[in-house]
Amino acid sequence: MWVSLEPKQGIRADAYPQEAQEKLNAAAPGSIVPLGASCFHATVHVRACGNHYQTTPAFEHKQAGYRSVKRLDVTDTEVKAYFATGRWTLHIDPACVQVKILPVPSVPNQIKWEWCMQTSIQRAYEKDWIPYDEEAQQLLEQAWKAGVASNVELQIGIRKYTVLVDPCASIMKQVNEDASKRRFVRRIARTSEHETSLKELFEKQKLEIGDNSCAICLNEFSETLSLPRMTTTCGHQFHATCIDPILQRGDKRCPMCRTAL
Ligand SMILES: [Zn+2]
Ligand SMILES: [Zn+2]
Repeated sequence: MWVSLEPKQGIRADAYPQEAQEKLNAAAPGSIVPLGASCFHATVHVRACGNHYQTTPAFEHKQAGYRSVKRLDVTDTEVKAYFATGRWTLHIDPACVQVKILPVPSVPNQIKWEWCMQTSIQRAYEKDWIPYDEEAQQLLEQAWKAGVASNVELQIGIRKYTVLVDPCASIMKQVNEDASKRRFVRRIARTSEHETSLKELFEKQKLEIGDNSCAICLNEFSETLSLPRMTTTCGHQFHATCIDPILQRGDKRCPMCRTAL
């Protein structure tokens, strides 16, 4: 199994997605392996000495990246990270001053389509990426597999959105009907653990929300957990996507109690 390590903190080793694992397994020593759009156009340098590394190009204000890469044996039960010359690496370095033992990660093998709550990629954390519902997942994946750029129309709550699906881009975009708002979209491989923890989070949220529903689209919040909710100053709650058109009007009033917003 092929893993890489983030050099600044070296908190955990990341396993490459299944597709990338197969490419790396087939690579001859001395070759350079491009992993494609789904891996942020990263390139792995497979070296005969075993000290493999990965480079990622700069993107939207995000700096170019460098990671050490290692091929684990099937018998490996842990990953060792070494701190040397100001960064964490998976390779033994004579200048090493600190060693950390990390668990062997699992291989991400489930493709997920996610949209970003943050409008700036630079400020986005992992928790800001929200998966689309099952129906949208299927429509997006189908379009992506066609291999050419295309537009996919989605109905989310009461509104229509268009996702600009592009198999050559690592970050794609979603725009709403009047193109006044755009969101970043990505296709990413996730582990089954990630799926489980997300489900647990949703179950917990369901209990907290109860059977309240959005007065605009009438859908229950507990059935639409992937849509962000917004509470107005008067204390009424709506889907952000449903209240948005009202907030953009000149005369902003709560649809429930007519309080000026
Ligand atoms: Zn709604
Ligand atoms: Zn109100």
